[in-house]
Amino acid sequence: MSALALQQLIDSTYIVAVVGFILSLKWLSSPVSAKRGVLAGEIGAALAVIATLANPEVVQYKWIIIALAIGAGIGIPLGLVHMTAVPQRTALSHAFGALSASIIGIAEYYVATPNLTKFGMAEIGLEVIIGSLTFTGSVIAAGKLQEILPQRPITYKGQNVVSLSVLGAAILLMIALCIHPDYTYLFPIMVVVALIFGILLVTPIGGADMPTVISLLNSYAGFSASLLGFVLNSKVLVVAGALDGSSGFILSVIMCKAMNRSFTNVMFGAFGQVQASSAAVEEARTVRSATAEEAASILSAASKVAIVPGYGMAVAQAQHKVRELYDALTKKGVDVRFGIHPVAGRMPGHMNVLLAEADIPYDRLIEMDDMNSDLPQTDVALIIGANDVTNPAARTDTGSPIYGMPILDVDKARTVMVIKRSMNPGFAGIDNPLYYLDKTLMLFGDAKGFVGDIVRELSGGGSGH
Ligand code: NAP
Repeated sequence: MSALALQQLIDSTYIVAVVGFILSLKWLSSPVSAKRGVLAGEIGAALAVIATLANPEVVQYKWIIIALAIGAGIGIPLGLVHMTAVPQRTALSHAFGALSASIIGIAEYYVATPNLTKFGMAEIGLEVIIGSLTFTGSVIAAGKLQEILPQRPITYKGQNVVSLSVLGAAILLMIALCIHPDYTYLFPIMVVVALIFGILLVTPIGGADMPTVISLLNSYAGFSASLLGFVLNSKVLVVAGALDGSSGFILSVIMCKAMNRSFTNVMFGAFGQVQASSAAVEEARTVRSATAEEAASILSAASKVAIVPGYGMAVAQAQHKVRELYDALTKKGVDVRFGIHPVAGRMPGHMNVLLAEADIPYDRLIEMDDMNSDLPQTDVALIIGANDVTNPAARTDTGSPIYGMPILDVDKARTVMVIKRSMNPGFAGIDNPLYYLDKTLMLFGDAKGFVGDIVRELSGGGSGH
């Protein structure tokens, strides 16, 4: 094959790969087509790798094969982690992606110096700064999510000034390098300063805000890869990085909106610090609890039940038991639907993924706004390991940290039942007035065990319909 024909084939393969990435993003936005989306993304990535390897500029494969083997050796076990560990796994993937973008940028700098133009230096400098800060930031995020590092935000006075000064220093070093590309000793200092900024950026953010941070870091890693595409003159990297960067950014915006938080609040608000709250007053209030038997009889007497799953269902891996509950109630003629809050759990789509894994029909998963209009006509709202996403203080208490966050209005259902292990708060660290309502029954226990008990009671002959 002539060199021209080969180049044309490579370019066409890149176009097909990019189409695969775009379709992947489109299909991933609905649970119905998500599997297809994953496949399209995988095919796109495989095509991009094959086309790159076919490039005549690749002179030998030895190091590439070694790198591929190391990457696969790390990637395969990472892909097999439990669903609850996916946020930290994702953080590690971003860390590796950003590290590789940063290392390639560093290599390009040393290869191109001293013939680097000012523009070329600016491209490499920006790319390496973003890649380096994303690397350390993502490692800290993974450490917090895995609870190797403290989850609480670690803060001190003047923190934001210190952090922003460090970022400013990295940018000044980059500008100095653009003006004097021959001051090569400044380059490693710039890299180290950017690495330090990544640590300073993420350390003050609470563990539970990490999914939003990860999504933001994902977008940084994407933009860094896109910049690298300009440096390497790789069109596929420019486009793939831009898609990654912009989709990560859009996702972060969606998550912030669903939590009614601003970017600044997530990044600099140190959310999750121990709050001086009215907890002592709340403790004195009483709640009503019920047994699995009582819960089963209330559920089987209902016509309409709304199940609201949350983080606790994910922790307990209760989704299969929830499916059994859905089957048992449906068999008794009860209309069961699932209210899905956009930030229930700890990552976007968390509940959809778990319920899909348990084969619960998609048309039974109802988005928040639709569910809310139906909740006043619902006999029982059964909350399984959810807390903040059902907290009416978000509507009523202007002093609450979650005030203004859209919630599932479960308190409007005729009866509310809540499965959780204790009176401990959820992610926001605040009490939930829902638990003290007259219509609320607390079902204390592990989500999987308690739902299993209710199913047993139901199959042991509930009152029927
Ligand atoms: P949540 O407010 O964190 O509450 C989860 C509840 O589950 C806890 O109160 C806990 O109570 C209970 N629980 C834990 N383990 C359990 C088990 N084994 N069995 C039964 N219950 C268990 O969760 P959420 O209502 O799903 O709300 C999500 C929160 O995360 C929101 O505040 C949201 O803003 C935040 N967030 C979400 C995302 C996202 O993308 N989804 C991203 C960032 C932040 P006990 O300890 O008493 O059992």
